[in-house]
Amino acid sequence: MLEKRSHRPLLGCIADDFTGASDLANNLVRAKMRTIQTIGVPADSQKLNVDAIVIALKSRTISTHEAIKQSLQAYEWLKAQGVEQFYFKYCSTFDSTPQGNIGPVTEALMDVIYGKGKGFTIVCPAFPEAKRTVFNGHLFVGNELLSESGMRNHPLTPMTDANLVRVMQAQTHRIVGLVDYASVSAGSPEIRARFQALQNEGITIAVVDVTCNQDLESIASAIADIPLITAGSGLAISLPNKWRIRGLLDLSDSSDILPPATGYQAVISGSCSQASNAQVLDFCQRGLPSFAIDPLADVSQVNMVQQAITWAKTHLMNGPILIYATTQPDIVKSIQHKLGAIHASEFVEKILTEIAKGLVQIGVRQLVIAGGETSGAIVQALGIKQMAIGPQIDRGVPWMSAISPCSEDKAIHLALKSGNFGSVDFFTKSFTQLSSLHHD
Ligand code: ADP
Repeated sequence: MLEKRSHRPLLGCIADDFTGASDLANNLVRAKMRTIQTIGVPADSQKLNVDAIVIALKSRTISTHEAIKQSLQAYEWLKAQGVEQFYFKYCSTFDSTPQGNIGPVTEALMDVIYGKGKGFTIVCPAFPEAKRTVFNGHLFVGNELLSESGMRNHPLTPMTDANLVRVMQAQTHRIVGLVDYASVSAGSPEIRARFQALQNEGITIAVVDVTCNQDLESIASAIADIPLITAGSGLAISLPNKWRIRGLLDLSDSSDILPPATGYQAVISGSCSQASNAQVLDFCQRGLPSFAIDPLADVSQVNMVQQAITWAKTHLMNGPILIYATTQPDIVKSIQHKLGAIHASEFVEKILTEIAKGLVQIGVRQLVIAGGETSGAIVQALGIKQMAIGPQIDRGVPWMSAISPCSEDKAIHLALKSGNFGSVDFFTKSFTQLSSLHHD
């Protein structure tokens, strides 16, 4: 059993992308845990006086070797902070390539925490509030199987199989099993019994079925003593209350307070998801200023970054602007065909990153970024090390504030939106919400 702690973080999280990290931090803050998100593994070992720490990595699509290395470094740093439980966070749509990196990172963390081949953990991407559910091991996005959802066309991690037991098994040497809905719906004692039965069969990784928040509650009780859990952000909603009940956590009412927002407002979108396409369209249809990036433009003739910044300077004083590479799947495919898939992504990320730096240099202090990889690239380029988590805009997306060397060390407010998240008016609604925060 866990013992009463003295100012040690309870939860140490390793997130495989930046929007996912803020999604997780958002859920912890909503559940009233004092939470800090760091960008990468902090260089110093200063002890943080918070309830939860989320280390944001950009390890979803990098080489498996590098993803394992960074995740283990994050683990060691969190262990030195004295955390009670480790949480490897991935996307609720289980975004991964056929090689991983979810499986290999899970396996490496288990080996170091429990010993080679030993121990037990769960795979729980479900987030019912965001309409991600798992039944008979199959992941659903709304009413569609993962493999029939927009995720099948993702530029970097197309998901073409909804069977998570099969997907996870292809990524790990350990044996993967299932805690099916019959056990989950019967409550935490039954779930624990199923964990034991699976371990008796040599299964050390179990996908768990989840269709509603009550299922997450039962799972959160069942995993209280498991040192490593792997999950999307949904499970985090249910954890804090379990610790509070056990007297391990005083819930904080001031966990989501940010400084007032200043400066110009901009949106940068590098996500090609269905939701981001609809959000870009909505912004443009409101007659607000938008600038499209064409990855096939002749770079010997056009300096796209310079063009975008010059354009931005003429519009920023009037309200939010949008700069986007977002486009429909068939156009992405033809661009990838011409440039190569990896090169196309890196090229677009590089342009958007340079534009983001330029925007901050000319006074943008409120920045909405759409796209997980895109957010990761931009936040790293802005030299941000740590973010405070503020109020939620939509499911999975909070406003955050950070200090960047590019903003002369003044606070920038950031919203990092994972591709599929956010209502259709997200790009305008975010700024309205932020400006209302300090005028209520
Ligand atoms: P999401 O959160 O929707 O998955 P990401 O930013 O993680 O979004 O991934 C989208 C990827 O697609 C990024 O690497 C981005 O650079 C790339 N991309 C964006 N626009 C284009 C485009 N027009 N052509 C090709 N690739 C693109």
